[in-house]
Amino acid sequence: MSASYVPDPRDLLRRLTADGPSMIADLERLVSAESPSADFDALRACREVLADIGTRLLGGKPERLPDDDATGRPGGLLWRTGPSDRPPVLLVGHFDTVWPLGTLERRPFLVSGSRATGPGVFDMKAGLIQGLYALARLREVCAEEPAAAFLVTADEEIGSPCGGALVTEWARGARAALVLEGAADDGALKHARKGWSFYDIHVTGQAAHAGLEPGKGRNALIDLARIVVRLESLTTADGQVTVTPTMAGAGTTQNTVPDHAHVVVDVRAPDTEAQQEVDSSLRRLVAETAQLPFEITGGINRPPLEEASARGPLAVARDCADLLGLAWPGSAAVGGISDGNLCAAAGAPTLDGLGAVGGGAHAEHEWVDLARMPERAALVAALVAALPAD
Ligand SMILES: [Zn+2]
Repeated sequence: MSASYVPDPRDLLRRLTADGPSMIADLERLVSAESPSADFDALRACREVLADIGTRLLGGKPERLPDDDATGRPGGLLWRTGPSDRPPVLLVGHFDTVWPLGTLERRPFLVSGSRATGPGVFDMKAGLIQGLYALARLREVCAEEPAAAFLVTADEEIGSPCGGALVTEWARGARAALVLEGAADDGALKHARKGWSFYDIHVTGQAAHAGLEPGKGRNALIDLARIVVRLESLTTADGQVTVTPTMAGAGTTQNTVPDHAHVVVDVRAPDTEAQQEVDSSLRRLVAETAQLPFEITGGINRPPLEEASARGPLAVARDCADLLGLAWPGSAAVGGISDGNLCAAAGAPTLDGLGAVGGGAHAEHEWVDLARMPERAALVAALVAALPAD
């Protein structure tokens, strides 16, 4: 594995540092175009803002990915840079956010010192801006522009029902995948993410009047309760595998023995083996405990991003940080999922958390450290150049 580093990394960082004020202006434009995952018109408007910024920086219009036929959900954007006949380094991002329309009114884009706040600023609009600047300046400093593809989807926050297949497809043919999701604490990169499974367990009983003839009913809620209590035993003592009942419902009226009950269970596991094991254990536990007919829907949703997938790009990132004169931000294993899980499952060496330094994803205090946007963009640019072709 031989890496080819950018000829003058310090020059790359200087250029991106000079871009600082215009990065902030572009970030303000992008955050000011609200883009909740469920609002198609807002998503389309935000997509145009992003396309416009990218076109200005990269000198070419992005490909607009097709809308979903079934739902009309708008597709994302794709930029290709460098030679298109070589396997690209895949940059992955999303422009949808968890914030409903109107959030901006009470919480507009604001800068205070080096901190910017606003809906989606950390997750992950600053990462998108950094990625576009990275590709724009990389082109200026490389004699031969490396092949890259920047895929930006519109539905990551709701589990990538449409974008996920594209991420998988592009990751399959990529040299490596760099995910521009926000960093872990203090800018740490993310070298592992747990896998995610969820289940909906339904129990079917028999309804009866709770006062007149309760004995004739078969109480689905009581049967489900036994299952829920036992589920706790599947969480491992070290907390690596977690099994968490999150939502439940039962019954029809206050005086009827419930003929149905259900619970939703969220499961996280650190590796594929553990994920499959807990899947079988959960199914076995329900079968052994239930006294009434039951059905389990759902299952394994996202495979884990295992540490082995990140090892290669992480080592190259370390070298790049050195060459750029940056302090090594470190790396962390995290519980949350991203499209990075899909990239790793598709076989691409994958490094995540390369986006903005900040915090508070999905929280009211979400923020980004503006002073560190240039260095993060430089790290991504240097990585695109350095990640080896095989
Ligand atoms: Zn995100």
